[in-house]
Amino acid sequence: MSSARIVRVALPVPLDNCFDYSVKEDSPNPCVGGRVKVPFQSRTLIGIVTELLDHSPFDKLRNVSTVIDTTPVIEPNMMQLLTWSSQYYQFPLGETLSLALPANLRKGEPADPQTLVYWSLTDEGKIQAPTDVAKKAPKQAQALALLQAGPLSHGDLLGEEVAKGTLTNLEKKGWLRQADVLPPTPKWQPAPTEEPLDLNTEQALACATINAAEGYHCYLLDGVTGSGKTEVYLQVIAPVLAKGKQVLILVPEIGLTPQTINRFKRRFAGIPISVIHSNLNDTERLAAWIAAREGHSGILIGTRSALFTPFANLGMIIIDEEHDSSYKQQDTLRYHARDLAVMRASRAGIPVILGSATPSLETLNNAKQGKYHHLTLTRRAGTANTARHAVLDIKGQYLQGGLSAPLLAEMRKHLQAGNQVLLFLNRRGFAPVMMCHECGWIADCPRCDVHYTYHASSNELRCHHCATQRPVMHQCQSCGSTQLVTAGVGTEQLQQALDELLPEYNTIRIDRDSTRRKGSLEDYLEAIHKGEYQILIGTQMLAKGHHFPNVTLVALLDVDSALFSNDFRAPERLAQLVIQVAGRAGRASKPGEVLWQTHHPDHPLLQALLHKSYSSFAEEALTEREEAGLPPFRTMALLRAEAHDAHSAAAFLHQVRQTLQANPVCNGDVEIFGPNPAPLARRAGRHRWQLWVQTPLRRQLQQLLSSAKPMIHLLPDGKKVRWSIDIEPQDLA
Ligand code: ADP
Ligand code: ZN
Ligand code: ZN
Repeated sequence: MSSARIVRVALPVPLDNCFDYSVKEDSPNPCVGGRVKVPFQSRTLIGIVTELLDHSPFDKLRNVSTVIDTTPVIEPNMMQLLTWSSQYYQFPLGETLSLALPANLRKGEPADPQTLVYWSLTDEGKIQAPTDVAKKAPKQAQALALLQAGPLSHGDLLGEEVAKGTLTNLEKKGWLRQADVLPPTPKWQPAPTEEPLDLNTEQALACATINAAEGYHCYLLDGVTGSGKTEVYLQVIAPVLAKGKQVLILVPEIGLTPQTINRFKRRFAGIPISVIHSNLNDTERLAAWIAAREGHSGILIGTRSALFTPFANLGMIIIDEEHDSSYKQQDTLRYHARDLAVMRASRAGIPVILGSATPSLETLNNAKQGKYHHLTLTRRAGTANTARHAVLDIKGQYLQGGLSAPLLAEMRKHLQAGNQVLLFLNRRGFAPVMMCHECGWIADCPRCDVHYTYHASSNELRCHHCATQRPVMHQCQSCGSTQLVTAGVGTEQLQQALDELLPEYNTIRIDRDSTRRKGSLEDYLEAIHKGEYQILIGTQMLAKGHHFPNVTLVALLDVDSALFSNDFRAPERLAQLVIQVAGRAGRASKPGEVLWQTHHPDHPLLQALLHKSYSSFAEEALTEREEAGLPPFRTMALLRAEAHDAHSAAAFLHQVRQTLQANPVCNGDVEIFGPNPAPLARRAGRHRWQLWVQTPLRRQLQQLLSSAKPMIHLLPDGKKVRWSIDIEPQDLA
């Protein structure tokens, strides 16, 4: 097909169709999955070739301006996966393909290793004594030391925390230059460089089961926190690496800590490991992408979007904390990385492992139906004990900074014994409400249907749903009184209270506000491990992935807010959260204690969580979901619309509803609810409405939406609103 003179191109535009272009005689030969630069309306865009054609149904085709690639940047397997994703998640193919590429490739930069910048030492650089340099410029000394072994890519050096400025300074001194030879392809030494642990019976069974199988299998590794799931990962990837195959490991956004990465680096020091996370710059990201595609890296650890990385020879995929909500993308292509990972593995014919202490109900249901192989680790590895849980009834109790007297007494006991205490409060800021003591007026975000949060450190009121913030007012905006008070407790206030109540102990607060600076989370975690802080205050950020061996008491300060949510997933989320948080305690040989503060000690959900295992909780929750006709027993789509005026969004969704009902696919099995105002009915000045669509079968939902979508695009009110389709939505707000 090398002579094809017409290409069909998927462009990054919000349209469902592709576009045909002709290729000039003297252009290089384009290929499917390669990039071309084309004129589109009055712009030039970069698109991906999806087909080579001999003729097109359209005449007067415009010419491709540049053929960028003659070999694909999106290889056939990935193209199939992305095409499927685009159809399943109802998102345009061109935008889907574009999202899957690193930013540099989206901009048209070359996609081969030769285009990465490599650095090497000059002769003068080689003779610099590192100790002399280290006195004046430790960062420069570090760069020199790293390069002693040979050239390194710019991305690799940045990955080792060497700043760009350091490299240019060294270049100015004449000690460094851009390399003229590429470093040799790294050699793999797949033998573990650290002695594997002796597995307990359950771990051994899990490893043996996974290692014995060939081809695609999906395993649910269902192991309580601290049961040694990571050790299982390490031991099942060893034989994969030994065969020269690569491994992709996905972790939740907040779980990607140096601790996790170091465990893999220590075990496989002879294997190049790439890491993809949100702090990478575009150069580093491209370098990791190329390293995987060229087969240079053996292990790639990354968050959600790392799923779209191409591999020369992928042998296994692992999804750690598979229940974590950060695997679901909340905008553009609203994909679930876990579900796509299973799809990718099955197409590639390789095993995939979903690990969690608290598996999602979706995954448990798949295991129950025999689609996934269920492996369990029921005991904590080593000598650690299971934590003891108890409820603290705080009805009528006086709270100081959100802490009841019995909790404070318990904290003192643990602290005096030289242990650490973790307080979990999923509410950042000083207080969630500021109001007038005279008339009850509450300071609300003018653009959203929510209250402002008071932040004491910056003396501001901030909206946590849009970017709005303002200095604290000194007068009530309704009655003019100066008696403004706060209600409720956030992490800032808790920290302040503890500084007064327990001044002899150091308190550290870990939330999005306190860790805004790059690297600060790592610094804090290290300080915690060194024992510099005895009291740890954390939001969601501290709930997962971190191991604190000296924490013996974990307290959940406010479980009540989760008990009364409208979201059908709230009980599942609460159950996962309490178990994950509790899992932070007593990981070493010290027994842990978990205390829950609540006004509703008899609430059935709390009682269930206290007295039953997660698996029996999940069993009952699944029965309830089935009876209520909810996911995972139905496939659900949420159509969202938002508009500046209150009526357009609702009117548009009414039209969508009629369009869907008129569709031949819409039989008695299809349920449509709404349109209704979204739980957060106004955000950033826009009114928000929702329409729910549910079917018993995935395929039916997909057929219905795919066939109705062209009509929905033509609806007159569509122009007045922003609308989107979310398949299997996780966030219902
Ligand atoms: P999980 O990932 O399930 O939370 P980890 O893999 O982090 O658990 O293991 C928890 C702790 O137990 C780690 O310190 C780990 O080194 C240790 N561990 C795991 N497996 C074993 C084993 N077979 N023997 C002894 N210690 C183990
Ligand atoms: Zn007032
Ligand atoms: Zn707002």
